[in-house]
Formats: sequence, C-alpha cells, structure tokens
Amino acid sequence: MQADFKDSIECLSRHGVQASSLWRAKVDEVGLSTARKILDDNGVAAVSLCAGGLFADGSKTAVEDNKRWIDEALALGADSLVVISGGLSEGDRDLAAARDRVIQGLSDIVPYAQAQGMRLALEPLHPMVCGFRSVISSLGDALDILDAVDADDTLGVAVDSYALWWDPGLESQIQRASSRVLNFHASDWLRETRDVREDRGMIGDGCIDNRLIRSWLERAGFDGFVEVEIFSALDWWKRPIDDVVSTIVARAGATL
Ligand code: ZN
Repeated sequence: MQADFKDSIECLSRHGVQASSLWRAKVDEVGLSTARKILDDNGVAAVSLCAGGLFADGSKTAVEDNKRWIDEALALGADSLVVISGGLSEGDRDLAAARDRVIQGLSDIVPYAQAQGMRLALEPLHPMVCGFRSVISSLGDALDILDAVDADDTLGVAVDSYALWWDPGLESQIQRASSRVLNFHASDWLRETRDVREDRGMIGDGCIDNRLIRSWLERAGFDGFVEVEIFSALDWWKRPIDDVVSTIVARAGATL
C-alpha cells in the first residue's frame, strides 16, 4: 500500500479495524517508539511483526538479527514474530542444505524467543518463490520442521491462503497443525496472475475459497484474527488506501 505507517494505521482505525500485522520496513520508517505510539493513539493492536527468519542463505548475522526483531515485536505489543525461511543465495543449488540451515536457525533462536515470551510463526510460501523467498513451501514441510525443533510452546505456523491454497493435503495438514496455527493470512489468487509475489488479488476476486480454509482452521481450534494481506504493486497499491480498506471490510463478511 502506498501509504506511510501513520496514514495506514489511521486508515485502519477509521474503518473500524482494531488489529493489524506490521511490516518491519514500515515500522523502521518511523522508529519503534513512534510506531507504538501511533498504534496506541489509534486503538490498533499489533497482531504480529513480519518478517523475521531468513536463515536459508546462511547469513552470519541471522541469529542476532532475529533476536533484535523479537525485541521489536515485544516493544510493539505483537503476539508473534512471523518468520519466513528465506531463499537461496546467488549460485547456491544445495536446497537440502538450505533447508537444514532453516532448522538450525530456528533452533538457535527458539531459546531467546522462549525467554522473552514471544511466539514465532513459521510461514511457508508458495513453491514459485522457493528460489528467492522461501525454501519451505508446504504446510506439511513446515510442520515437519516444527516436529524437528520440538518447541510447540514457542514455534508455530502462519497459514497464508495465497501460499497454500493449491495443496490437496491442506485440510489434513491444518488438522495436524492443530493449536500450532498462530496466524491466518488471507488474499486471493488471480487466475491469470501476472506476478507471483506482488499481484495478489483482493478477497473474492480469485480462485481461493478463504471461507472454507478458515472453517478448517476453526475446526482445528484456531480463533485468532483473519489478516488480509494483499501485496499488489500492480493494482491495489495504486488505489487510495481508504478504497482498499473499505473494500476489504465490505467483502469480509461474504468471503472470509
Ligand atoms: Zn502471509
């Protein structure tokens, strides 16, 4: 959305939206304490901070970076830090090793998150962004990692319908996840998408039955917020933010 942090939060408040996940880059624009003040002044709570993790490329600073982001999530009053695995570095073709680094990285930061009382939500992303964004593509793969790290009090998953809707095993994997689902992100997959990352559709405009996926989540015990997350450089980010949020609010009842 082409709006700064303050305008975005004020817009949500204007339309009666009382909670939102926060994008790190937007928080960084204003700084942590100003961001918290803007949230409090507008009665908008932070659901989660996005996105930490980014272990797959073997960054030497990943653990320290994530500790800082955990601290930032705490300062913002967020319930979770969403973590994505990251993609491969230039020239790297060893996907198995990259996935191992994700497990190691999560294992390294879990004790710190645990001590701070901050939950981490591992978010698998669509297989088309495996190369540059996430070497973890399915909910089943993410849950295998949770099983390997074995810290269910701290490490859960974020279910993003845009990333996972294609998976015939999604319903059973949501049942398997059970109480480990910490976040639900919703948008729509445009049938003729032009960009796998920044051409997300408005809820109701595409192929995803978000209401069905939500029903699976609720049957598994999830009772958190539905976070509408529309990366849309090609369409919705070009529109006035009040139009975007009012469209989400108007459609939520029928599509989520
Ligand atoms: Zn998401």
